Amino acid sequence: MFGFLTRWWRNRIIARAPLDSAQWQRTLGRLPFLRGLSEAERERLRRSVILFLHHKSIHGAGGLELDAEMQLLIAAQACLPILNLDIDYYRGWVEVIVYPDEFVPRVQYSDAAGVVHTEREPHAGEAWLQGPVILSWADVAPSADGINVVVHEFAHKLDMLNGDANGFPPLHRGMSREAWSHAFGSAYADFCRRVAAGREEAIDPYAAESPGEFFAVLSEAFFETPRAVIDLYPRVYDQLRLFYRQDPAARGVM
Ligand SMILES: [Zn+2]
Repeated sequence: MFGFLTRWWRNRIIARAPLDSAQWQRTLGRLPFLRGLSEAERERLRRSVILFLHHKSIHGAGGLELDAEMQLLIAAQACLPILNLDIDYYRGWVEVIVYPDEFVPRVQYSDAAGVVHTEREPHAGEAWLQGPVILSWADVAPSADGINVVVHEFAHKLDMLNGDANGFPPLHRGMSREAWSHAFGSAYADFCRRVAAGREEAIDPYAAESPGEFFAVLSEAFFETPRAVIDLYPRVYDQLRLFYRQDPAARGVM
């Protein structure tokens, strides 16, 4: 897909990157769901992270100062979904903005009756179509509970490669649109029923919000608690495995 010049240019960026190896090791150690990565995968992640830091601007807002280690922690999580894809999947936008804590976006929208509403709900993250990713630092802190705001927002970014975040990212050659629609469509309907019935599930109930949120939330679980996805929706797990070209359960992530 990429020519000699792109490879040469990337190798040059990677060779010259001032990535501190002790800092990098500490970052890997703080992210429990990366533990199963092979040596080769860790090296690929490191290369993606360097390119990510080169091409994106990660900066604080609302009084938050981000140091190199904080940027690394975000970049390492952001690059996990594209470990076996390519940095080019994050094309078309530059900024990652990080608030100290949950932030209240002032989103205005008009409803069908033409009434303009201003939404003021606190958010842990946001991804804009062809615009920035916005994160709350308090929610970026590593965990292994199946909730990962960084993976969530970057999954939206992948979904937005072909327009709105609707749970249907551009599939790879050889993947079936029918298989994707069927797996996600029936799982989403089932999940909404479970949430409406008030059942406790191992998947964040926010997934019931929309098909786009379902894809993002299931992506978080796929990387952090893959067993929960396999148990509940094995066909969704299969589609995510084909899309991300990774099999986190096989790495021993619970
Ligand atoms: Zn979302």
